[in-house]
Amino acid sequence: MTRAIAPATIAAKADHYEDALSGSIVPPIHTSTTYARDTGNQPFNPAHVYARDNNPSFVQAERVLAKLENGEQALLFASGMAAIAAVFYTLQSGAHVVLPNSMYWGVFSWTRQYCARASITVSYYAPDDAASLRKALQDKASTDIVWVETPSNPMMHVTDIRLAAQLAHGAGALLVVDNTVPTPLLTRPLDLGADIVMHSATKSLNGHSDVIAGALVTRENHSHWQRIVTERHDAGAIISPFDASQLLRGMRTLSLRVERACQNAARIAEFLHEHEHVEEVLYPGLESHPGHKVAREQMSGGYGSLMSFLVKGDKAETLAVVSRLQLLVRATSLGGVETLIEHRHSIEPPETGVPENLLRLAVGIEDVDDLIHDLDQALSPSV
Ligand SMILES: *Cc1c(COP(=O)(O)O)cnc(C)c1O
Repeated sequence: MTRAIAPATIAAKADHYEDALSGSIVPPIHTSTTYARDTGNQPFNPAHVYARDNNPSFVQAERVLAKLENGEQALLFASGMAAIAAVFYTLQSGAHVVLPNSMYWGVFSWTRQYCARASITVSYYAPDDAASLRKALQDKASTDIVWVETPSNPMMHVTDIRLAAQLAHGAGALLVVDNTVPTPLLTRPLDLGADIVMHSATKSLNGHSDVIAGALVTRENHSHWQRIVTERHDAGAIISPFDASQLLRGMRTLSLRVERACQNAARIAEFLHEHEHVEEVLYPGLESHPGHKVAREQMSGGYGSLMSFLVKGDKAETLAVVSRLQLLVRATSLGGVETLIEHRHSIEPPETGVPENLLRLAVGIEDVDDLIHDLDQALSPSV
């Protein structure tokens, strides 16, 4: 009987093997762009002809990711956006896609522009409302892709992945889930019925704010996946061997980082929830959050390190809070070891409706009392 290996073990071992030449337990970085042929003109190793096709450095990281997500195959890309683009580039013109009306701004903005250009019809649904997803699926006779991002960035809406998969499959569509925020340690969308998982590996997977990378993982080798494999191979949005090696190294500590960041986030959410200068905390770990029940079912081990909160006050007062922070870093991005804070209203266009008094917090692994102390002095300057 084979025993299933836990994600923490998969990540820590990083698909470890002893290098045949040296016995080293950390893999070398394969920088060669090309591979030699023998005197009979045959490649020494048929898998290796040219490094855009295949490189041992990224193949190893892909194997780790596929195992973490319990998928059949993973592909790494030059960025999260490049991974997303590959999903859309491989649709035919006339295709129909269904996307959340509140999601990571970069994806919302790029898909809107690209789909208009490529004659792909887009319908939108409210990510916390299954009836609205049902309705969006009725817009056209058939749908190709349903996109889910849960918890969503930065409004922290929770979507029921299992239900979304049923609805998508009922309409003949594939369900793609952006699993960047939870990571495979907290949510495994493929086990809940999703067909493809997408990651900005720039965030928690790498975890050290020093690599831009993206990934797709598939449950099965379906025809859309085969087109994506060809697309990456032919259009070439690959990750560099050095970045793949950094990512592999980052993933080794994924379970420790996610565990600590989740614990910190839970404590900070409780603290902010009680704070007199905070109007509301958006964090699915709080029982008061409308998506808490669904999140409890589809997330295990924590509710993630991302949250948003609304300051009691206007835009100027909110920016004043941010300016008083001494320890937290004012920067975009998430999933790193250091805690970052961002005023999303300054970043996104007004149409996305992000409140002026919203701050997004990407919690890191620092000492949680230090973080709480910094937030407290920034929120209540008289203290
Ligand atoms: C950052 C992010 C992306 C885009 O990924 P890049 O690596 O920046 O290209 C997509 N989705 C979510 C949820 C993200 O946080």
